[in-house]
Amino acid sequence: KQARLDEVRQFLPEWLEQSRQEAAFGEVASYIPELSKARRDALGIHLLDLSGNSASAGDCDTTFTLQSISKVFTLILALMDNGEEAVFGRVGMEPTGDNFNSMLKLELVRPGIPFNPLINAGAITVSSMIKGSSPEEKSARILEFFRRLAGGSELQVNEAVYRSEYETGNLNRSISYFLVENGVLDGGVENVLSVYFRHCSIEATCRDLARMALVLAGDGTDPVSGEELIPRRYVQIAKTFMITCGMYNASGEFAIKAGLPAKSGVSGGILTFVPGALGIGVVGPALNAKGNSSAGVHLLERLSQRMDWSLF
Ligand code: GLU
Repeated sequence: KQARLDEVRQFLPEWLEQSRQEAAFGEVASYIPELSKARRDALGIHLLDLSGNSASAGDCDTTFTLQSISKVFTLILALMDNGEEAVFGRVGMEPTGDNFNSMLKLELVRPGIPFNPLINAGAITVSSMIKGSSPEEKSARILEFFRRLAGGSELQVNEAVYRSEYETGNLNRSISYFLVENGVLDGGVENVLSVYFRHCSIEATCRDLARMALVLAGDGTDPVSGEELIPRRYVQIAKTFMITCGMYNASGEFAIKAGLPAKSGVSGGILTFVPGALGIGVVGPALNAKGNSSAGVHLLERLSQRMDWSLF
């Protein structure tokens, strides 16, 4: 697959404005009160290829919190900390087709084990497996890892979003106690959740997302420094989850229409990439009925079709 960003640059500004109209059909997430402050018609995209060329359009300086996008990278760090066998002893590998915060399937298949690491139950379990002697140390290791993947960007936790989520996160608390009861989680629930809510509240721009995605596009090697930041096998695992469950219960549709590994979050961010070619970051806070950025999905599907980026 070819990035061909010179071609992308020719139509990107116009396409972005057309996709921006799709925000009218979406809603900004408000179940975490602080998120409802986002501008609903913001839309930005940044693309970065392996040779360092970039293209961007729209609101690229808009900051937003990673939310569920962070789950891809905590999974990778947990794999690096514990290995495959330990991680998949506690979370499954199957998509659910349910909402991200659903408790429905916790009791099925292998009893009590979350279906996959990208739904909340699985991601909270994964957060508990990050190495560190205290929640603070675990959070610091996660932030440091994310900064390295973002090319040394000074990513920070948005404390207002963190507090807002911590204060209203009763569904995530319920899921966590259920996991403790089933012996999947150990360690205090509040400690685990503080690590989880903190990585969800790390703030970034779509440029940072594109930079992090670029490392995945390079199979774990940072194309700028040439350094291996993630073992290739763990990128392969993350990539597979992104295809099968990265876009919530619209993952099948996105695989058909865009054909790219992607992960979205309730703040309206989407991180995606074309393996071996480029990293892409998008933000558009108004969400469609499936919880994905309405304008962002529209733009990405169109772009991928036009550029023939689908993996399939
Ligand atoms: N921190 C959010 C939650 O647990 C993440 C949700 C998401 O982006 O899907 O509710």
